[in-house]
Amino acid sequence: GVNASAVEKKAELGRAGWTLIHTTAATLPTPLTPAARDGVVALLRAVAQTYPCKECREHFASFIAVHPIDIESRDSILQWTCIAHNAVNARQHKPAYPCGDIKALDARWGDCGCDRGPGAAKA
Ligand code: FAD
Repeated sequence: GVNASAVEKKAELGRAGWTLIHTTAATLPTPLTPAARDGVVALLRAVAQTYPCKECREHFASFIAVHPIDIESRDSILQWTCIAHNAVNARQHKPAYPCGDIKALDARWGDCGCDRGPGAAKA
């Protein structure tokens, strides 16, 4: 809420940020189209440049520099976002998510309630 502490707000921003990132990746089309691939890469680079938490965006930019975004396929991009999130989890002493389990990632992030990933056919 409006009176949440700074720590709570930072965590809420983080959950919202990861929700956008993982859901966008999970709803990319298979096969991946150039437009969808370019869009998700632009989103991830924008996060690295503009995410409001300075520490977070600098870590994320460093992560991208060391681990280039794996744009091979929808699955590889979704797994890349999972590995990036695990890098933050590790810094926070939280358990790692099973990024090799694409079905688990789909179950968690594949249904956005909106039916409209960036590769969805036009109505
Ligand atoms: P979150 O870590 O936000 O996770 C939300 C949900 O995602 C979990 O409940 C789980 O269902 C799912 N999940 C967990 N791990 C994964 C995974 N690896 N892949 C897919 N799904 C997963 N906070 C900092 O304090 N320092 C930082 O440097 C920092 N960097 C960040 C960088 C980015 C780009 C973003 C978006 C956030 C960052 N955060 C950072 C915020 C931090 O990652 C958490 O979002 C925040 O601490 C809230 O944590 P949480 O435990 O509530 O759940």
